[in-house]
Amino acid sequence: MNDLSNKPCIICVAITGSLPTKANNPAVPISIAEQIESTHAAFEAGATIAHCHVRDDEGKPTSDPDRFAQLKEGLEKHCHGMIVQLSTGGRSGAGQARGGMLPLRPDMASLSVGSNNFPTRVYENPPDLVDWLAGEMKAHGVMPEIEAFDLSHILKARDMWDKGQLATRPYVQFVMGVKNAMPADRDVFEYYIKTVHRLFGTDAPWCAAGIGPAQIVLNEWAVSMGGHARTGLEDNVRLDKDRLAPSNAALVARVVDLCGKYNRPVADWRTARAILGLRAA
Ligand SMILES: [Zn+2]
Repeated sequence: MNDLSNKPCIICVAITGSLPTKANNPAVPISIAEQIESTHAAFEAGATIAHCHVRDDEGKPTSDPDRFAQLKEGLEKHCHGMIVQLSTGGRSGAGQARGGMLPLRPDMASLSVGSNNFPTRVYENPPDLVDWLAGEMKAHGVMPEIEAFDLSHILKARDMWDKGQLATRPYVQFVMGVKNAMPADRDVFEYYIKTVHRLFGTDAPWCAAGIGPAQIVLNEWAVSMGGHARTGLEDNVRLDKDRLAPSNAALVARVVDLCGKYNRPVADWRTARAILGLRAA
């Protein structure tokens, strides 16, 4: 086994998402106050990136910049140092409304660079919108996290980097296990890593997220292969087939345990910011 003792692992917690409801799991934080409390517990458990969506008063997904502003302010106050990553994903709004929060200048934002299928719909990311979102991120000093639902998305990130559309070397997250998109396939996963190393350098950081039962699988693959790991109730609401996850922090704790198993330190927020080249908080 590789010696990973000098490779700290950044844990990202995707606290809410667009889909899960209290009916799926009462621990899903919906209101801003719940989101701050849940994130704080996850931060204490070892997460250093908070991937955030916001909901409206009825609990439905929204891209409302005012909600994002409240959440960002609360997280910066109560989770000092934690990296705030706001979602520009397509389930919360349409067109340029997806990027309406970027002038808030969060540390990071998610950026999908291509289209693919989702369980019941097409996840549409048309080229002109991708270019616009990337341009807004660059203009406001927001570091993108490239969401790779497919191999072509990693190559698209390289193309955008070559064209000067990204301020920094791309930080790619592999997403696996979305129904009708890329499943959790080990050979593909290893080829993703190989592609990131080839296109962005062997020291390029990368991250992985698995959906539903694939979450813990991707967590272990990422931790054991030197990548960074995403967990949280957005992607999965269960500990296993029989038990709901009691909190975001409980899902973070599973990744911390995996880091112990593979002899990897868990990155604190200063280390995470240094690895990603982000400004100190
Ligand atoms: Zn998300």
